[in-house]
Amino acid sequence: MKDSYDVVIVGGAVIGASVAYFLTANPDFTGSVLVVERDPRFAQASTALSASSIRTQFSNPINVQISQFGLSFIRDFAKVMQVGDDRPDLNFHESGYLFLANTDAQAQILRENHAVQRACGADTVLWSQAELADAFPHLRVDDIVLASYGRSGEGWFNNTGLMNGFRAKARAQGADLIHDEVAAITRDGSSISSVTLKSGAVIRAGIVVNASGPRAGLTARMAGLDVPVEPRKRTLFVLDCAKSPEGSARVAGGRLPLMIDTSGVFIRPEGRYFLSGAVPVDDPAVDFDDFTPRYEEFEDIIWPALAERSEAFEAMKVINQWAGHYDYNTLDHNLIVGRHPEVTNFLFANGFSGHGLQQSPAVGRAVSELITYGAYRSLDFTQVGYERIAENRPFLEKAVI
Ligand SMILES: Cc1cc2nc3c(=O)[nH]c(=O)nc-3n(C[C@H](O)[C@H](O)[C@H](O)COP(=O)(O)OP(=O)(O)OC[C@H]3O[C@@H](n4cnc5c(N)ncnc54)[C@H](O)[C@@H]3O)c2cc1C
Repeated sequence: MKDSYDVVIVGGAVIGASVAYFLTANPDFTGSVLVVERDPRFAQASTALSASSIRTQFSNPINVQISQFGLSFIRDFAKVMQVGDDRPDLNFHESGYLFLANTDAQAQILRENHAVQRACGADTVLWSQAELADAFPHLRVDDIVLASYGRSGEGWFNNTGLMNGFRAKARAQGADLIHDEVAAITRDGSSISSVTLKSGAVIRAGIVVNASGPRAGLTARMAGLDVPVEPRKRTLFVLDCAKSPEGSARVAGGRLPLMIDTSGVFIRPEGRYFLSGAVPVDDPAVDFDDFTPRYEEFEDIIWPALAERSEAFEAMKVINQWAGHYDYNTLDHNLIVGRHPEVTNFLFANGFSGHGLQQSPAVGRAVSELITYGAYRSLDFTQVGYERIAENRPFLEKAVI
C-alpha cells in the first residue's frame, strides 16, 4: 500500500470492486486505485446476503438499460474475468421473472412498464389469465387480471462469484485491495484531501468513491455530507416444497421463474429448494449490526400468500433463513450515482434499494467513465445523480420488490 492514491474506494463488495475493475481495465485510466474493505468475510455485506437475481422489468428506461448491460456482462463473465486458469462461471439461470396483477390498477402499471421495457428491447410479454394458466399450470389464477413475464434476459446467478470475480481481476490489473476501515475523511473546503484508516494510516486521495452499501450515510457524514440511505432489513427463507412444481412449466424447459405474487411475496427455485421473501409490513431503519431474521414473516406473510397461490406450495418447510440489509434510498428507492455537486471529488455509488447486484457492472463502468473522462460515455447516469437528492426531486422506480 502507498500513502497516496488517485482513487480511494470505500467498500470492497460488488460495487466497489466493479468500480475498481472498470477503472483498471481502461487503458485511458492511468491512475492508482485503492479499495478499502472493513470486513474480509463480507458477512454483513448486502452483496453476500442478496437474492442474486437480475431482471429487465423496471419502470424507468435507465434501470432497464442498466440491467441489460449487467446481463450481457454476466453472460460473458467467465471469459472477460478470467485470471490465469480461473474462469469464474456465474451459473446463470435464465428462467425469467413473473409479475402478477390482480387489480386493474396493478395491471395498468404492468402495461405501462411493459411499454417502457419493449421500447428498450427487453424480451417481456404480457399474459392474460388463460395464457398464464397455460404456461404455469401449478398456479391458481382465478383472481389474476394480467401477468408480465420475461422470456429471456432475466434470472439468477452466483452473487459472491460476481464480487470475487471483480475483485480478483481488479487486483490482477493493478488495484490495491486491503482489509482496513475508513474511519475519517478529511475535507478542505470543497475538496477531499485524505482518508484516515482504522489502522492509523493516512492516505492522500485524489477522488473518494462511496461504495459502502447500507453504511453509505456514515461514510458521507465523515466528509460532512448527507445521503438518504439507511439499512432496511429483508429476511430470505430457503424452503423445501413437499410436491415441488419445478419441471411443470410449459415454457423455459419446464423451469419456474422468479414469481412476484400480488401480495408482494416473491419465490424462485434455488437448487432443489425455493428461495422466498416478502416486503415487511413495518419497514423501519435498523441498527447496522442487527441481522436477526424476522422469522415470523414466513408464517404471517409468505406461507399464507404462497399456499393461496398454488396447492404445490401448501406443504413447505423452512430449511434456512437469513437477514440482509437493503441499502435503502428513502427519497425514491433508486440508485444515487455521481459526484457531489460542490465537493466534486467525492463520488456516490449508493442507494440501490435491492437492485445493486445486477446494477454493479453498469455502475462500475459509469463511475469509471466519470473519473476517467469527466463525463459518461456509455450510458448517461445524469438522471440518477446526486443533484436530485440535493433538490429533493424524487426519481421514482415503480417496480421495486
Ligand atoms: C435480502 C436481499 C436481497 C437482495 N436481492 C437482490 C437481487 O435479487 N438482485 C439485486 O440486484 N440486488 C439485490 N439486493 C441488493 C444488493 O445486494 C445490493 O444493492 C448490493 O449488493 C450493494 O452492493 P454494495 O457493494 O454497494 O454494498 P455491500 O455489499 O453492502 O458492500 C459494502 C461494503 O462496504 C464495506 N464498508 C462499509 N463501510 C466501510 C468503511 N468505512 N470502510 C471500509 N469498508 C466499509 C462493508 O463492509 C461492505 O462489505 C438484495 C439485497 C438484500 C439485502
